Amino acid sequence: MSSPGPHIPAAPQLVDPYGRRLHYLRLSITDLCNLRCAYCMPPQGIAKLPHDQVLSLEEMARVARVAVGLGVDKIRLTGGEPLLRRGLGRLLSDLAAIEPKPDLRLTTNGLLLQDRLPQLLEAGVSTVNVSLDSLKAEVYGRVTGLGAEAGDASLAKVWRGIGAALASGRMAVKLNVVLLGGVNEQEIEDFAELTRRMPLAVRFIEYMPVGRNTPFQPDRFLSAEEVVRRLGRLGELEMLPARPGDGPAQRMRLADTPGELGVITALSSHFCATCNRLRLSAEGKLVPCLFSEASVDLRPLLRRGADDAELAAALLEAARIKPREHDQAPVSAHAAGCAMSRLGG
Ligand code: SAM
Ligand code: SF4
Repeated sequence: MSSPGPHIPAAPQLVDPYGRRLHYLRLSITDLCNLRCAYCMPPQGIAKLPHDQVLSLEEMARVARVAVGLGVDKIRLTGGEPLLRRGLGRLLSDLAAIEPKPDLRLTTNGLLLQDRLPQLLEAGVSTVNVSLDSLKAEVYGRVTGLGAEAGDASLAKVWRGIGAALASGRMAVKLNVVLLGGVNEQEIEDFAELTRRMPLAVRFIEYMPVGRNTPFQPDRFLSAEEVVRRLGRLGELEMLPARPGDGPAQRMRLADTPGELGVITALSSHFCATCNRLRLSAEGKLVPCLFSEASVDLRPLLRRGADDAELAAALLEAARIKPREHDQAPVSAHAAGCAMSRLGG
C-alpha cells in the first residue's frame, strides 16, 4: 500500500464569511481625471491627493501579485482616469508577468485610448470598458463638463479610440452608459442600434448615489427595469446566460446582431449575493463594498516593509469584513462609500 505523501496545506483563498470567492480585484491607479462627469465630480474637480499618499506602481503591482496568490484571477485598472497615469506601460507589463497571468481589463473614458492602445495590446488586456454617456456632442459636452465645442472634438476622439480597439481584433470593447433621466434617456434606442452594426457590448448602468463629490439627484434615476422595457420596443430581446465570472450585468441581444446589450442593476435589484469583488483605492485602501465605509489600509503596511505574508493577511481581513449586502435604496439622497474618482466605480 502506498504511504500518503507529505501534507501540503492548501494556500488560503479570498473567501468571505458568506462563502463568496473574491477573485476580482479592481485597482484604482490614479485619483486624477481629465473629465468632470456630472454624476462623479464637481465642475472644479476634487483636491488632488498629495503624491506620497498615492500608491506607487510597484506597490500596486505587489498587492496584485499577492492577491493572485490568494485566488484573484481578474484585475481591472480604473481610476480616476487610468490612462492618465504615468508609467502605465510598466504597471501593465508587471501585471502581465504575474503567474498565473490574471485576466487584465480596463475602464476608461476613452479620450486617450487610441494613444495608449499599443501598451494595452502588448500586455494582453482582454477587455476595455469605455464610459460614454451620449452620442450627441452637446449632451456629451454637458455631462462631461467639457462644453459643447470641446465635447464635439472629444467625442470624435473617443470614437477613434473605440474604432482602433475594435479594429485590433484582440480585445473586447464594452460601452458603459450611465443613464440619467431627462439627460440621455432618449438615447437608449440609439445606443442599442449600435449593437446591430458593431461587435460592441452596450451596458446601461443605473445612476448610483455613491461617492460624496456630487449631490445625488434622485429625479435623474432610471431603473434597469424601465430600460429593458424600452429596449423591448426595438424587437425581440434574447436573454443571454451569465458566464462564470461575469459581473452584475444582465445580458441580452437583439436578434441577429453582432453586439450585445446589458443592464447593470446596482441598486434596484441587489447583486450582492454573487459579488466577487475587492477594490483597492488610489491611496491604498482595500474596500470590500462600494456602499460601505469598511476598509483595510494597506499603505502603512507597504511603507513599513511588511512581507508578503502580512499583506496576504490584510487581504484576507478585507474579505472577512465584506458585508453580506448593502442596504442602499435607489432614491436615497445619502451618498455612500468613498469618492468614485478615487475608488474607480
Ligand atoms: N474614468 C474612468 C471612466 O469614466 O470610465 C474610470 C473611473 S469611473 C469612476 C468608473 C465608472 O464609474 C464609469 O463607468 C462611470 O460612468 C461610473 N460612475 C461614476 N459615478 C457613477 C455614479 N454616480 N453612478 C453610476 N456610475 C458611476
Ligand atoms: Fe467621468 Fe470617470 Fe472622470 Fe469620474 S473618473 S469624472 S466617471 S471620466
